[in-house]
Amino acid sequence: MDSTKGFRVAIVGGGMCGLACAIGLAKHGIRADVFEAAPEFGQVGAGVGIGLNAIRALDGLGILEPVMQKTDSKKPTLRSFIFVSGPGQHEIVYDYAKHSAQFGLGIYRPAFLDALLPLLEPDCLHLNKKCLLVTPLGSGKYRLDFEDGTAHETDLVIGTDGVKSIVRGCVVGNAQSNLVFTNVVAYRGIVSHKALLKAGIKTTVDQMPLCWMAADKHIITFPMQGTEKINVVLFASDSSKPMGPQVQGSWVETVPKSEVDHLYSDMGDDARIIVDHVESPSKWYIHSVNPTLSSYVSGRVVLVGDSAHGMQPHLGAGVGQGFEDVYVLCRLLTHPTTQPSNLDLVLKVYDELRPRRANLVLEESARVGRIYDSFGKPGCGVDWAQQQLAGIWEFIWHHDLKQEVDEALKKLDDDPMFRDASRSHL
Ligand SMILES: Cc1cc2nc3c(=O)[nH]c(=O)nc-3n(C[C@H](O)[C@H](O)[C@H](O)COP(=O)(O)OP(=O)(O)OC[C@H]3O[C@@H](n4cnc5c(N)ncnc54)[C@H](O)[C@@H]3O)c2cc1C
Repeated sequence: MDSTKGFRVAIVGGGMCGLACAIGLAKHGIRADVFEAAPEFGQVGAGVGIGLNAIRALDGLGILEPVMQKTDSKKPTLRSFIFVSGPGQHEIVYDYAKHSAQFGLGIYRPAFLDALLPLLEPDCLHLNKKCLLVTPLGSGKYRLDFEDGTAHETDLVIGTDGVKSIVRGCVVGNAQSNLVFTNVVAYRGIVSHKALLKAGIKTTVDQMPLCWMAADKHIITFPMQGTEKINVVLFASDSSKPMGPQVQGSWVETVPKSEVDHLYSDMGDDARIIVDHVESPSKWYIHSVNPTLSSYVSGRVVLVGDSAHGMQPHLGAGVGQGFEDVYVLCRLLTHPTTQPSNLDLVLKVYDELRPRRANLVLEESARVGRIYDSFGKPGCGVDWAQQQLAGIWEFIWHHDLKQEVDEALKKLDDDPMFRDASRSHL
């Protein structure tokens, strides 16, 4: 057994959360094997914006600096959103930064992975390992079975296999339950800022994130890798139906440009310039964990990131909640007193902290998406939007996660069961 703690850790899924978790553990001498289904690390998807809470979590994990180096940014520079009207002249509806100035970071996903991969021992990373089954073997052990016919035995399974998670099945009984299509699609692309300027865009798009709101659609833009590139996500929603069954087939596909040209043809000039520059848009069918999970843990299987709380991306907070999960789990697992004999108590603490917070962010993300896509409908004008948008990020950014974990660890250390369990292991 390689781990200094005496238990083996397997991480299923090598996305942003899986790799961050492996590093958070490795920095404290706990080896974790990462099993990734894809033939290489390097994800589909363009950029993600993260807020202060996520930046603090990355800092606590000791990976903020390498990530910053790869994002070409000396410090977090992304300021809060400006909401503008999608149609017409793009008047400012609400400038969030005027009420609560905060800074975040625009991360290009491949750059994030580039920053993280060199920090891990290559022999911990296993590609082409699509996990099909997680089977409890008794005595707290589990076997992972992979599509290529191989298997792996472990003492702790961390499921970071995204919203379509199979590990979630160990916690909820059936991996396909608790997952719905939200009737929201997103078209993603990255455009050159220079090209937008050449096309005559007047709205400033390279300094701050913008949300261009309209009935049943909105566009998110934010600068990335300095100000050279603009990350663009075009959202369209169908509010006439309740959230429903999962989409059959692929949830991401490349679509002809004419599809987006048509959908956003009623937007104002600058919005249409942006849409016009999204080459080969990739269309994402947005699924969400629903109903939310009351627990992220079963036995020694623990869910982290989208597998636990895949959410609609309207608060730009999904991966941030994943990084918070990773921070909490790594603090708990690397705590000096954590041992195989008290692992269940440690995971119980994770479960007391994480579902409460991440599920709230999930629910709020859905709610604000409905606000953005109601703008311009009867009764939903500028005054209404200003009231609705005030303070939407405060509870996410200003949560003191470190203090929460410090207090939980102190309580754990005072728990005689935890202390006795660790003594009995000595
Ligand atoms: C359009 C859009 C815009 C978004 N914008 C933002 C944003 O601005 N800010 C933000 O915070 N979040 C945003 N998000 C959400 C963010 O992308 C997710 O929260 C984040 O990617 C979750 O990370 P993860 O590591 O949990 O899962 P994933 O990134 O989904 O990674 C899961 C990994 O597991 C692998 N895997 C899957 N199944 C298996 C298996 N059976 N065996 C082995 N490996 C497996 C996959 O190949 C993948 O590498 C956005 C999402 C979308 C769709």
